[in-house]
Amino acid sequence: MLPRYDQASFYAMLLSMLPMPICARCEQRLREASIAMRRHGEDMQAAIDVKRRGKPTMEQRQEFATRLVASFNAAQSAWDAYREHLSKHGLLKP
Ligand SMILES: [Zn+2]
Repeated sequence: MLPRYDQASFYAMLLSMLPMPICARCEQRLREASIAMRRHGEDMQAAIDVKRRGKPTMEQRQEFATRLVASFNAAQSAWDAYREHLSKHGLLKP
C-alpha cells in the first residue's frame, strides 16, 4: 500500500525536487545593491547630521543635494538590476 501524503507535505516534496533558482550572479547583484544602498544611507546620514548641527550653507546644501541624488540613483539602478536578475529566474514577475 502506498503511503498517503497530505497536501502540505506533497507540495513540500515537490518543492524539494525543484532546483533552487539562485546562482552566483544573484549574490553579486544583491551585494552591489546592498553596498549602493549603504552608501546612500551614509550620505543621507551625513546630511541629517549637518542639518542637526545648525543651518547648512547654500554651498553645503547644493553639495549634499548633488551627492544624495547621485547615490540614490546608483542604489535604485543596482536594486533594479537585482530585481531584473531575480525575474530572469522566475522568482519575481518582471
Ligand atoms: Zn541568479
